Amino acid sequence: MPDRREAAIVTVGTELTVGLRVDTNTASIAAACAQAGYRVTEAVSVADDTDAVARAIARLAGDNALVIVTGGLGPTHDDVTREAASQALGRPLRRDPALSERLAAAAERHVDERARAQVLRQADVLDGARVIEPQTGTAPGQIIETATSTVVLLPGPPSEMQPMLAQVLASAKHVPEPVVLRCARIAESDAQVRVQEAIRAFPGVDLTLLASPALVDVVLLDAGAGKDVLVEAAQAAALALGEACYSMDGASLPEAVVRLARATFAKIATAESCTGGMVASAITDVPGASDVFVGGVVAYSNDLKQSLLGVPDETLRTHGAVSRETAEAMASGACGLGARVAVATTGIAGPGGGTPEKPVGLVWVAVATPEGVQAHQLMLTGDRQGVRQRATVHALDHLRLALERM
Ligand code: ATP
Ligand code: MG
Repeated sequence: MPDRREAAIVTVGTELTVGLRVDTNTASIAAACAQAGYRVTEAVSVADDTDAVARAIARLAGDNALVIVTGGLGPTHDDVTREAASQALGRPLRRDPALSERLAAAAERHVDERARAQVLRQADVLDGARVIEPQTGTAPGQIIETATSTVVLLPGPPSEMQPMLAQVLASAKHVPEPVVLRCARIAESDAQVRVQEAIRAFPGVDLTLLASPALVDVVLLDAGAGKDVLVEAAQAAALALGEACYSMDGASLPEAVVRLARATFAKIATAESCTGGMVASAITDVPGASDVFVGGVVAYSNDLKQSLLGVPDETLRTHGAVSRETAEAMASGACGLGARVAVATTGIAGPGGGTPEKPVGLVWVAVATPEGVQAHQLMLTGDRQGVRQRATVHALDHLRLALERM
């Protein structure tokens, strides 16, 4: 018997397997399934070939409580999903009288006799299937219960598929929503090891990690634990992640920064060199940022670092633009813009400009608060954009930690 929470997705269409269309249905079905508490074990695309589609349905229906099939329900000769499902599940097709009647009007519009006959194929329903009425389009969906599985056939066009999918999943049993612990400046494998250890005592909780440059989302999924245990597991995971975790309610890093600044009544400012305004841009992406963000300076040249941020000429000459001292002076200078807390970035994003002492990827981030100014040296990987993106995350995260400590 398959696990009652396991689901599979089959998208049907040669346009998908030859790369003429991008398969967006899989992504939206997978997201909806996760939301409804299903674990999608497999998602496959199959060409418009009756035997191939039948094989996929038969195999996946044996292993999954829910199989969602999209595409190939239209009227044309290449729409083979009905026949394939019929073959896979051993249920004959019968023409549904009510559907036939409704499709007759659409069929009448075709002059060609064969085209009329084709339209009516959409009234063919697997024996015992429940019909999902189309809200847009003409092809109905079908739900077939087998001994082990619920097989759902939905039309391919996303606008027709989506309302039917919502209807199907609305009746599915809801399980607690996943808890996402959002983390910065921690390696994916470190996060995994720490959390796996922490949640060992909580059965029925699954762990998955989603990484992007300098960020990791640790996702805890209900796999039978129930809401209370899931929440306890999330608390244990948060403890294990420590200050790497910046939010547990879906807030992004810039959102966390703005929220903390608001809570501490701290105005914030930025002084950016290598990130060229990316930190300010991320902060101003957050609605309501104007409550806390006074603004920032992109000081790329040494001249502007001096004139706008008051970095001493002496500092630039002795230590260089990419140095602890310059970063600290930039952050302090930005506080002079009317902020209580400011963050500064200066570094070598590449591809050129590196030296043995100051290689590409070297970035200094400094945060100035009323308690003083603190600089952090980073060695970042990636191409120019990658270094800049990572530097932006590091700057936002050091800002976040400074605000947390206020
Ligand atoms: P129709 O009645 O429109 O023929 P159908 O159920 O037979 O519907 P298909 O013929 O497989 O569906 O696909 C129709 C169109 O729907 C495709 O040309 C494509 O634009 C879109 N479509 C199908 N499958 C997908 C998918 N997996 N992702 C995104 N779009 C899709
Ligand atoms: Mg079609």
